[in-house]
Amino acid sequence: MEGRSSSTAARAEDLRVISYGGGVQSTALLVLAAQRRIHFPIFLFANVGDDSEHPATLAYVRDHAAVYAKQHGIELHELRRYRRDGTAETLWERLNQPGTRSIPIPIRMANGAPGRRSCTADFKIKVVGRWLREKGATTGQPAVVGIGISVDEIHRANKRRSELYEQIEYPLLDLGFRRDDCIRIISSAGLPVPPKSSCFFCPFKTVDAWRAQRRNEPELFIKSMRLEVELNKRRAALGRDPAYLTRYGIPLADAIPEEPFARQESNEDPGCDSGWCMT
Ligand code: SF4
Repeated sequence: MEGRSSSTAARAEDLRVISYGGGVQSTALLVLAAQRRIHFPIFLFANVGDDSEHPATLAYVRDHAAVYAKQHGIELHELRRYRRDGTAETLWERLNQPGTRSIPIPIRMANGAPGRRSCTADFKIKVVGRWLREKGATTGQPAVVGIGISVDEIHRANKRRSELYEQIEYPLLDLGFRRDDCIRIISSAGLPVPPKSSCFFCPFKTVDAWRAQRRNEPELFIKSMRLEVELNKRRAALGRDPAYLTRYGIPLADAIPEEPFARQESNEDPGCDSGWCMT
């Protein structure tokens, strides 16, 4: 994997990339590309930050996906967001920047509705877009960007107008594959099934995922709780109402109480209305 400059000498019309999120759907696309069942030789993983992505997703991308991609002649590039001064910026850093007035993640209001977010655009869409433009994608010669949305999540497709330098495709929809098919494709390639991918503090996470975090990853749950408290301190200083990481309109520790027993995880919709996260 590489940083923001790579030596790939592709012409824009040859640029067929997958927005790789490190989750089930986009990993199934990696296997399909390796088997040459879809023509996407380049996978772009926009890492929003080692301190922000779920650690299990980072481990999967680096220990499994990158190795598999290399073995099968697929380019997998790990991309970062860079500030104007050339230093890398993570989403966690931006969230914790003192004095920031706006909250970049889809923090939920007391009624449970998520607020407007800039994280997906700033840390994924623009990061991938910059790489594509550096490689020659233009309005006249847009790159093709494949997004890993399966048939059971079809409502997440087409919600976003694509940028001028890209043309969005949904290979799993074209093939009629569901999430279960993706799991089968990944397993039959000898790869472990990846964990659900998202930032560990993402307000789009399902209630089940929060419960699992409290139970299995208490250190991440504590960081999420502290983040919610910090964001609300800043909101209070600006005279704004409290906002929350879950849809219950109460602090995280109360919304997700400790449970003595593990529950079966459901396939509840994560609530993210784009295919750039959680694929
Ligand atoms: S996973 Fe959630 S918090 Fe992370 S970039 Fe996507 S929408 Fe934002």
